[in-house]
Order: sequence, then structure tokens, then C-alpha cells
Amino acid sequence: MTEHKDVIIVGAGPAGVGMASLLRRIGVENMLVIDRYEVGASFVRWPQETRFITPSFYSNPFGQIDLNAVNPASSPALSAGVEHLDGTAYAKYLQEVLRDSGAEALTSTHIVEVSLTQKGSFRLFSSSGQKWVTPVLIWATGEYQFPDKNVFEGAEHCLHYSRVNSWRDFKQDDYVIIGGYESAVDAAINLLEQGCRVKLLTRSAPWANNHIADPSISLSPWTRQRLQQVMDNRYFEIYEDADVTSVLKTSSPDGGYRIHTANGRAWCSHQRPILGTGFLCGGGARQLAPFFDWNAAGFPLLTPEDASTRFPGLYLVGPQVRHEQHIYCFIYKFRERFAVVAKAVAQQLNLPLRDDDLKLLTEDICCQDDRCHC
Ligand SMILES: Cc1cc2nc3c(=O)[nH]c(=O)nc-3n(C[C@H](O)[C@H](O)[C@H](O)COP(=O)(O)OP(=O)(O)OC[C@H]3O[C@@H](n4cnc5c(N)ncnc54)[C@H](O)[C@@H]3O)c2cc1C
Repeated sequence: MTEHKDVIIVGAGPAGVGMASLLRRIGVENMLVIDRYEVGASFVRWPQETRFITPSFYSNPFGQIDLNAVNPASSPALSAGVEHLDGTAYAKYLQEVLRDSGAEALTSTHIVEVSLTQKGSFRLFSSSGQKWVTPVLIWATGEYQFPDKNVFEGAEHCLHYSRVNSWRDFKQDDYVIIGGYESAVDAAINLLEQGCRVKLLTRSAPWANNHIADPSISLSPWTRQRLQQVMDNRYFEIYEDADVTSVLKTSSPDGGYRIHTANGRAWCSHQRPILGTGFLCGGGARQLAPFFDWNAAGFPLLTPEDASTRFPGLYLVGPQVRHEQHIYCFIYKFRERFAVVAKAVAQQLNLPLRDDDLKLLTEDICCQDDRCHC
């Protein structure tokens, strides 16, 4: 049996849940949200100690919605009662938002194939043989579950940040961390808190970029502040200008790894080096690679409505959305695109829109200049 839906959203993270909530608000009834795990699955899989970098605060009634909210009516700060939520608390918040929206959701359902019908709709297949057809497919599969494992030769020997359950599971020893941004610095701070010795190998020192306002390309104030507190820790060594080119497993009887950099330096580590080098460029959109045109930087090309330039009924929401110099990798950034997609979907489905439906969400990317002029 193939079920027909007006809209299908694949992925129930903040992008999928926020989009579902807005589409319900504008009157989309026959819609389904699908996730291969649970709602907020990526957050459930964060290391237990990881906290939100962006603070949450209930300022919604004054027109400034909580930075981490996915719709104007909700607030993670109110939901969890804390400013920097952990992954479990944020997943719970997403579950509340989805439940309140009344959207139909199907979890533990992995979409493994998408094809086109003769009429240009999308046919979706799950790993357990379910089938759906929809004219509007919203792809919201994120990045976190798609780590980049090919950053250099031998990267497969390393442990990626996204595979860590808890830093408390690490024994007191020496660790090498590769990377210099949010996840690498978070790993370093957590391991130092466990009493470990840490060497951080980084190409540059993003914490030195005080003048860059955009947290997508420099270190956030929260991480910078935490880093300051461990800078003098005698167990902490930072090696800047360390462009790692390979990690080799040594053949010595007690195991170990050798880490090489482009400028000829090398380090040894008994423990698997930890990768804080980010995620696959294009993230979960790579699952639908033939459905998008891709730019030279490895991101899907999108219309001004955030649809695929190849298939207008396929929309992308979440951190892989890029327009010119704008990087939408934080929730407060990519939620600004929900209204753009909702308007296009409403047009496609012939739904009337009230101005009120799209308030607090900006369409005009010119207003989203990250460069600080102060
Ligand atoms: C350590 C860390 C800290 C962060 N801190 C912040 C922060 O403080 N503030 C902030 O704004 N952002 C932060 N981010 C970034 C933010 O988490 C992401 O931008 C956000 O999670 C992206 O949301 P999403 O819904 O696109 O993806 P996800 O939350 O990853 O959701 C995607 C969903 O799609 C599902 N899925 C994938 N493929 C399929 C498939 N084929 N079939 C069915 N389901 C599928 C997955 O199970 C998943 O639930 C942080 C990221 C990391 C890694």
C-alpha cells in the first residue's frame, strides 16, 4: 500500500519539528514527519556533558524569541528551566513542540530510497517496506549523524566527537584532539575536567578572532569563556599551525598511533586520537545527492525558496542551507528560512496565508548580515 501525503518531512530535529509546527499553523493537515530514530535523535546522541553554546532565555512576549526555539510560541528555557540545555533536555523540548503542533509523526522509520513518480511527485521507501507519495518533500536530516570520516589519511583510526557517549567513560591518560573549533575545544575541556592530559592540534586559533561576530566561523563566547578557564591548566598543550595530514596505527606491541602534520611534525598517542573536525559537507542531504545540484564548496544549490534547483517540490531545511555568504548552521539562523519554505508550500498546495502566520520570521537574507559594524 502506498499512502499519499500532501507534505512529508524527513528528519525530526529542530529543522523538521520547526517546519512541521509552522506548516500545521498555516493549515497543512495531511502531513507526516518521519525520523529513523526518535524525535531529537541527534541531541539524544550528544555526549552527556555537552551543553548548548547559544543561551536560552524566555523573551518571546517582547518580540525576541528564545534563541534556540523552533517556533515563536515556545522556549527551551521555559521547557527545561536552564540557560544552556543538554541534548536530552532539548530533545524533550522538541518532542513537546511536535506533540503540541498536532503533526503526525512516525519514528524508528528510516527512509532508504526516494524516487520520482511520472507526475513529478516523490515516492519514499522505508527500510521496513513502507511507501508514501507526496508532491512536497522537506528534507531535514541535519549533519550530526554524518561525520566526515575522510578528513585525512587514517582518519578512520580516530574517534569522532559524535561517537562519544560520555567523557566520564575515558580513563585518565594522555589524549590528542584534532581540530580547533567548538567540538574539539569542548572535548578538550571535558577531558581536562576528567583529569586527563590533552594535546590540542589545530590549524589555527579561532579563539584569537575576537573581531569575527559570526559564531559559524569563530569560537562562540560561551566556549571562549570556558576555554579561558583551562588555558593555564598544566595538563593542557595547544599546538597551532598543526595541519594533520595522516594518522597511522603503529605496529608496536602496546599499540598506539602516530599523528603527522604538513610541516613535518609528529606526535604519538596510546589512545585513539579524537576528531573534532566536523561533519560531512552537505550532511544528510548527501543521501539525496542526485536530487540536488552541488556547488564547488560541496553544498546543495537552492532556489530563493530553498528548493532544489533540480526538483522544485523538494525543499532543504537546516544547517546545510547556504545563500551567498550566509551560513545557516545555528538554529536561530536556519529557523529564519522556515517562513520562506512555508510560503512556497502554501502556494503549491493553494492554502491561504495570513500575515500573522509568518510573523517573527524574516525572509529577506539581506537583513541577516553577520558582519558586525560596531
Ligand atoms: C556539539 C554541538 C553543539 C551545538 N550547539 C548548538 C547551539 O548551541 N546552538 C545552535 O543553534 N546549534 C548548535 N549546534 C548545531 C545544531 O545542533 C544543528 O544545527 C541542528 O541540530 C541541526 O538540526 P537538524 O534538524 O537539521 O538536524 P538533526 O538535529 O541532526 O536532525 C536530523 C534528523 O534526521 C533524522 N534522519 C537522518 N536521515 C534520515 C533518514 N534517511 N530517514 C529518516 N530520518 C533521518 C535523524 O535521525 C535526525 O533526528 C550544535 C551542534 C553540535 C554538534
